Amino acid sequence: MSELTDLYQKIKGCQNCILSQGRTRAVPGEGPEDAEIMFIGEGPGFHEDRQGRPFVGAAGNYLNELLEKIGLNREQVYITNVVKCRPPGNRDPQPEEIEACRSYLDTQIEEIRPRLIITLGRFSMQRYFPGASISRIHGQPKRVGNVIYYPMFHPAAALHQPRWRSLVEEDMLKIPDLLAKLDDLEEEEEEAKVPQAEQLSLF
Ligand code: URA
Repeated sequence: MSELTDLYQKIKGCQNCILSQGRTRAVPGEGPEDAEIMFIGEGPGFHEDRQGRPFVGAAGNYLNELLEKIGLNREQVYITNVVKCRPPGNRDPQPEEIEACRSYLDTQIEEIRPRLIITLGRFSMQRYFPGASISRIHGQPKRVGNVIYYPMFHPAAALHQPRWRSLVEEDMLKIPDLLAKLDDLEEEEEEAKVPQAEQLSLF
């Protein structure tokens, strides 16, 4: 059994916070175990709770459309949430609920090792850009080591606020360039390492 399959079993039986009491199904996340791109949303909604899969309702259909715009489909990316069980009535997840779920997301990131982490909405943004305002920083990538963190508006917010739609779509269209940039940087760094290794072997 892979670490992730093992993790999914733990999440399905998790009772670490009050959200477990109201769930139909926990929603661990899905996608390839070696995905380059990981999307992190907020928490399951009605349809996700029923099906045990992330982003399968209206926001999910819109996310699929956004992915299509950049030539990707769901099977190529990993999709998960900061909390794995549905908050009642789709209320905001509470700090203690996010904390209770934190190690699950940590393990998913450690195992999948994505190169691009795209946060959807405020709650996943807070993990990497604490105290930031999403209206200010959406679409502005931050690179830490070999990983790019990229904050975007939540697709559901864009569905409810038509004026945000074009912003979400613009931000999405920047993703292929981000990946290309990351490839270039890694290549440059790899090349920069070669002379050092040669030099060292002289001594
Ligand atoms: N919204 C989220 O943040 N996550 C889902 O899985 C579905 C809707």
